[in-house]
Amino acid sequence: MNGLMLQKQLLVSSLIVHADRHHGDTEIVSRRVEGDIHRYTYRDCHRRARQLANALANLGVQPSDRVGTLAWNGYRHMELYYGISGMGAVMHTINPRLHADQIAYIVDHAEDQYLFFDLTFLPLVKAIAGRCKTVKAFIAMTDSAHMPQDSGIACLLCYEDLIEGSSSNYAWPNFDEDTACTLCYTSGTTGNPKGVLYSHRSSLLHTWAAALPDALNCSARDVVLPVVPMFHVNAWGLPYVACMVGAKLVFPGAGLDGRSLYELLEAEQVTFAAGVPTVWQGLLGHLEREGRTFSTLKRTVIGGAACPPAMLQKFQDSYGVEVLHAWGMTELSPLGTIGTMKYRHLTMSREKRCAVQSKQGRAVFGVDMKVVDANGQELPWDGVTSGELLVRGPWVVRNYFRNEGGNPLRIDADAHGWFPTGDIATIDADGFMQITDRSKDVIKSGGEWISSIDIENIAVAHPAIAGAACIAARHPKWDERPLLVAVKRPDARVTTGELLAYFEGKIAKWWMPDAVVFIEAMPMGATGKVLKNQLREAFGDYLLV
Ligand code: AMP
Repeated sequence: MNGLMLQKQLLVSSLIVHADRHHGDTEIVSRRVEGDIHRYTYRDCHRRARQLANALANLGVQPSDRVGTLAWNGYRHMELYYGISGMGAVMHTINPRLHADQIAYIVDHAEDQYLFFDLTFLPLVKAIAGRCKTVKAFIAMTDSAHMPQDSGIACLLCYEDLIEGSSSNYAWPNFDEDTACTLCYTSGTTGNPKGVLYSHRSSLLHTWAAALPDALNCSARDVVLPVVPMFHVNAWGLPYVACMVGAKLVFPGAGLDGRSLYELLEAEQVTFAAGVPTVWQGLLGHLEREGRTFSTLKRTVIGGAACPPAMLQKFQDSYGVEVLHAWGMTELSPLGTIGTMKYRHLTMSREKRCAVQSKQGRAVFGVDMKVVDANGQELPWDGVTSGELLVRGPWVVRNYFRNEGGNPLRIDADAHGWFPTGDIATIDADGFMQITDRSKDVIKSGGEWISSIDIENIAVAHPAIAGAACIAARHPKWDERPLLVAVKRPDARVTTGELLAYFEGKIAKWWMPDAVVFIEAMPMGATGKVLKNQLREAFGDYLLV
């Protein structure tokens, strides 16, 4: 017997309709690439998203057509989020930090029909325009006064002209909630980038779960600043979450340095911000140098790479900002786990609680996870035994776009499909998952695994160290041994011996790095992760010579 409840398709457009109707005068504030601060409301955003949908229809965009964006976090990008997906087309957010060849490959693979870009990326667009076979026009996200002259791009349109020339009279269409809404390519370090194609349904379910109190805990009383880019897994879903709960949104544009972020956080009274550890490092550095504190910031979600306990402690103990350590992937829309405390953790000592918070957290409802050994056998939740992390759920990828790389799923004895994350993790009895490594980054010394993340976390707690990465270096006796690659803080002095002495008593003796290499700057990837493959190429034989 079926239930007798109304059927309503879960569509992304319903989020902006809700935000307009119930929070119409709540602000969206953006630092623009033109240099100024722009402010308007959800009502304005909704109106312009409808104008954009009309403009796209006039350009001939059909349902399921892919429309690309190369843009910072800002109000025009927000309009594209709703205008493109809302009309039934697929918004393809492109990471501008990728190499131009990779971007050209992605645009071609996705068969993007139009490409919207912020003026910052004009040189990039010029470099790839001739290679984008499917793109009918490039649209500069600016007004006519700021349009580039003599760009050499065959078909260049102006965003504000398109909006101004289009009516706001547009009714969002109703269609199947399984329809694709957004496409996002993973920035894998090997092989071609793979497209993850989210549906309206998966995005809405993810939004509900992400907004929950034990997830991002967002409400209409929050001012949300997503530092995490809208081109990296939909800014972790925040442009959707903010509409669902009616939070004020603050977009930082291209200003991601410590000073610009701090100014915006204070001026707009931000209560909640989200970003990767490298961005927060810049912000904390600024606060320390200038002797500032936060007056309104209450929580920050840190993910995308492991948040070192030293960073967590600094936020909480020095600035009174609660850290939520989260883990996710492009393939998970992205939220998988988040480190919010359970009741019994509240009475723990500060140190013990910090140790729990440093883990990547517990699964949000909707995500099922397990760790398995090399034979696919499930491992115990004892907080010690590590294995490969598998996940499943309604916002986990089933297959990559155009079947790139073949079916990724592992089928278990009960015929359930699980997505292998490529992360190595433990899960404790409370369900807190802790990542110890990427499977391709693990250090296998004499057949035993050493966690590179544990070693890096200790290294960056040393006052002279700004960044650290621990890699597997080939070793004649043990196959692999840990090698620590470190970047010193400006003007700081530390020797190899002093740094290694700092590890004593903090890890097992056999985990101690065999050597330290100091470098000027860490090679960083497009999504704020250290490029360990480059470090392995440069220093993999360091212990052999
Ligand atoms: P991406 O698809 O670019 O978001 O990358 C996903 C990968 O980033 C995961 O598979 C992890 O290896 C890594 N990652 C994400 N969040 C964390 C975290 N909190 N701690 C450690 N690694 C993380």
